[in-house]
Amino acid sequence: MGTFKNLEIWWVTGAQLLYGGDAVVQVDNHSKEMVEGLNASGNIPVKVVYKGTANSSKEVEAVMKAANNEDKCIGVITWMHTFSPAKMWIKGLQDLKKPLLHFHTQYNEEIPWETMDMDFMNLNQSAHGDREFGHICTRMRIRRKVVVGYWKDEKVQKKIAIWARVAAGVADARDCLILRFGDQMNNVAVTDGDKVEFEQRLGYHVDYTPVSELIDYWKNVKDEDVDALVEVYHKEYECGPEILDPTTKAAKKVWNAAKAELALRAILKAKGAKGFTTNFDDLGTRDINDPKFKGFDQIPGLASQRLMAEGYGFGAEGDWKSACLYRTVWVMTQGLTTGCSFLEDYTLNFDGDRSSILQSHMLEVCPLIAANKPKLEVHFLGIGVRKEQTARLVFTSKVGPGVTATIVDLGNRFRLIVNDVECIKPKPLPKLPVASALWIPQPNFEIGAAAWILAGGTHHSCFSYDITPEYWDDFAVMTGIEMVHIDKDTTIPAFKKELRLNEIYYLLNKALC
Ligand code: MN
Repeated sequence: MGTFKNLEIWWVTGAQLLYGGDAVVQVDNHSKEMVEGLNASGNIPVKVVYKGTANSSKEVEAVMKAANNEDKCIGVITWMHTFSPAKMWIKGLQDLKKPLLHFHTQYNEEIPWETMDMDFMNLNQSAHGDREFGHICTRMRIRRKVVVGYWKDEKVQKKIAIWARVAAGVADARDCLILRFGDQMNNVAVTDGDKVEFEQRLGYHVDYTPVSELIDYWKNVKDEDVDALVEVYHKEYECGPEILDPTTKAAKKVWNAAKAELALRAILKAKGAKGFTTNFDDLGTRDINDPKFKGFDQIPGLASQRLMAEGYGFGAEGDWKSACLYRTVWVMTQGLTTGCSFLEDYTLNFDGDRSSILQSHMLEVCPLIAANKPKLEVHFLGIGVRKEQTARLVFTSKVGPGVTATIVDLGNRFRLIVNDVECIKPKPLPKLPVASALWIPQPNFEIGAAAWILAGGTHHSCFSYDITPEYWDDFAVMTGIEMVHIDKDTTIPAFKKELRLNEIYYLLNKALC
């Protein structure tokens, strides 16, 4: 689900006919070689497709319109090999609806000092052609990423790769249905927001789905399919004897959890959904002791953990914005291996310079971030409509740096809040059998947490070891939403100033770069 293999990035080279047809043929050959080089590098996860040179306003307009209409095309790279008078880009840029990357590079790595003549100069003019193009983008308030450097340089290719991954995530979001089983947890503000504006800005479509409809799928799950899934659990996770012995109450709870997972999978598949939210107060018929009881006997936390690992967006307590964002984090990190998860700020640990925040949830943490093989356990959970023995995967996260992010609705706009964090080794938690991570927000707990709170950030966030802040910057630019980033250099006075200035800046409703 959600690979990059059917996607394309289009490469359009800017030129003009002033220098004659021979020059354009050379521009064309150079461009082909560069695109082939990028594809052969193995550093760009999405295929780059060369779409030829654009030498006039009509040609620019035609290729931009074609990019808009091609579903496979997730973004356009432009590069001005020669001087390309920018008025010819106006109409095409007005039309372009896909993300834009302006690549400031050059076919030759070094100046051929001994042989360079005026013809060579006229042919290799990106030094000023790209400035002309940059000017028109800025004047037109076109949001784009500018990547500067030699096209064979791995560092440069990796910047393009990040943009490509984010463009894939943004394209996926435009075709992303999230199901809400039940509503938002009552009275909670920060996880709610304007779903209509969210869809206009970011694409995700969020639908309510009655739990009774999910229960219809649950009723149709076959016992033999549940048995088979329980076998998978036994193979994939550490299981104690009470889990492996099918006659125990714990094993029955695991069996019921597997049935819930199959019901969730079935409805997500039937509706073509890429994510979901749950609500611990809404699990079907309320009375579990009613002989006619139909519904989940426990919060489907194990299912949520496993579905997250497969790329389904997930947010607890009806948190649809987190479900959307987690799905995108997973898409953007396809093929990268360290992992991502929905997480919640749980409990603080004051310890001087090493003060940290325990990240967990009542159940729903994604096993992709686990340091070791997760343990499948069953324990009592006293939250929500079912105060019941509940199956879950228990593990602690890998240590190391990562980035966490959330989106909040400020009433007049969405704000993406990003924080660099350092996952550290926790002490054992023998009485808290849930999955968890322990992190120090950057630059330290005191400033990191204060900045997050001042920015209005949630207690829920989407964490990844593989994503860097550059991903989120590209995401904010492509979607035109505000981003604030809390990192090792953040100070509270400067951060407050940024929040105040952003309040004015976004009144203009223009995010430029
Ligand atoms: Mn929560």
